[in-house]
Amino acid sequence: MHEMILCKLGEVVLKGLNRRSFEDKLMSNVNRRVSKCGNFRVYSKQSTIYVEPKDDECDIEAAFESCKKVFGIIAVSKALPCEKDIQKIIAAAKNYLECEMRTARSFKVESKRADKTFPLTSIQISRQVGGALHQAFPTCEVNVHDPELVVHIEIRDDAAYVHGPAEEGAGGLPIGMGGVAVSLLSGGIDSPVSSYMIAKRGVKLEMVHFFSPPYTSDEAKEKVLSLAKLLVPWCGRLTVQIVPFTEIQEEIRRNCPEEFFTLIMRRFMMRISQRVADQVKAKALVTGENLGQVASQTMEALRVTEDVVDLPVLRPLIGMDKEEIVRLSRKIGTFDTSILPYEDCCTVFTPRHPRTKPNLDEVRKAEAVLDIEGLIDRAMTNREFVRIKL
Ligand code: ATP
Ligand code: MG
Repeated sequence: MHEMILCKLGEVVLKGLNRRSFEDKLMSNVNRRVSKCGNFRVYSKQSTIYVEPKDDECDIEAAFESCKKVFGIIAVSKALPCEKDIQKIIAAAKNYLECEMRTARSFKVESKRADKTFPLTSIQISRQVGGALHQAFPTCEVNVHDPELVVHIEIRDDAAYVHGPAEEGAGGLPIGMGGVAVSLLSGGIDSPVSSYMIAKRGVKLEMVHFFSPPYTSDEAKEKVLSLAKLLVPWCGRLTVQIVPFTEIQEEIRRNCPEEFFTLIMRRFMMRISQRVADQVKAKALVTGENLGQVASQTMEALRVTEDVVDLPVLRPLIGMDKEEIVRLSRKIGTFDTSILPYEDCCTVFTPRHPRTKPNLDEVRKAEAVLDIEGLIDRAMTNREFVRIKL
């Protein structure tokens, strides 16, 4: 029998009546990810999703890595199925876990018997397998309280399974269960992390990026697309809507007081994002804003920014320190790309003295000279859509 992957469901199991649809969604998400690594059969049984190779061509390591990035799963392990016979199980465990048993200093065996017709109890299985393993690998002591390695044996209806050590899954909820949101993706450190955090709660994302050629370069745009590509293993397929922002920024510079440049620009970003949200039936906007990080992220400034939209603005990084954000960014693999030195449209025409406690009425008045609807319409019309697949 082939080595396979077992994915343990996370919070999904708490969902009561919705549970079936959560499991179905999760299975189809897993299916889509692992189909890139070969021909797998994906099915769920007893709070576990099984990923079983159908032939020898399957890249089980790659599939294992993909499964670790699927939201909704808390632990992933590889396992070897074998016949439900205690001697076969012992032989499989010795063979399959040889490497782990040689390196670990202590171990214990935990057994589960879902198939109650199996002639041995869980305790008897653990004792017999544990005894045989200790005999075969005498340097590895039995320690039932604090073992370095836990060997799992499961007797299920269809077969017995010997597990390797479980690795941490991505946690969260299956993408698609939480609806859709529009995420504002810049080339910085923060917004890839905020996107990841909302996706982790089961939300499918539509990305929006504002770019201002010639003030921002093609490299800056490519960088954002690279970031989106790095997010795809977590977030699933994405579309990045690239919105031309040059005309809007030039109009603001020409007609509005310098101290409000950034805020008025951010109000345009929000309005356009809400338009996009309406088109894709998204129910919220997501940004990487963080309290106090820059002048446009004080409470007063955030109020001015969100004044122009009525969808909730989700800001998952709001209370985090930069260091925590950087740590997450490294974990999800976006950090090295985020720090590439290309400019963002936010750094074009930045005011020398931005107002940190802006007055909402003053900002509204300052932008009223602009043809707001016309500018937005043109930006919407000239969008470019880039689809990023798994
Ligand atoms: P980041 O590191 O994500 O760039 P930041 O701390 O530099 O964030 P700002 O530049 O003020 O903060 O932007 C705040 C948020 O606004 C970003 O996290 C992002 O969600 C959004 N944003 C900024 N610039 C753009 C852009 N060019 N396109 C799309 N969204 C943007
Ligand atoms: Mg930025």
